[in-house]
Amino acid sequence: MPNPKRRHSKTRGAKRRTHYKAAKPSYGECPNCHEQKLLHRACSNCGQYNGRSVIIPKES
Ligand SMILES: [Zn+2]
Repeated sequence: MPNPKRRHSKTRGAKRRTHYKAAKPSYGECPNCHEQKLLHRACSNCGQYNGRSVIIPKES
């Protein structure tokens, strides 16, 4: 099995990890109430998903 001869410096590891980025959450429009909602999630405004009510939305 190949093994590394020397350990890498903290800086080298940190430099490699500069390319690790958090992905922006993708939003879409709710077809029921036309509010902005997260894709593949129930709408937080009306509680609908795939044309039916799945959650009871929180009262504000
Ligand atoms: Zn909605």
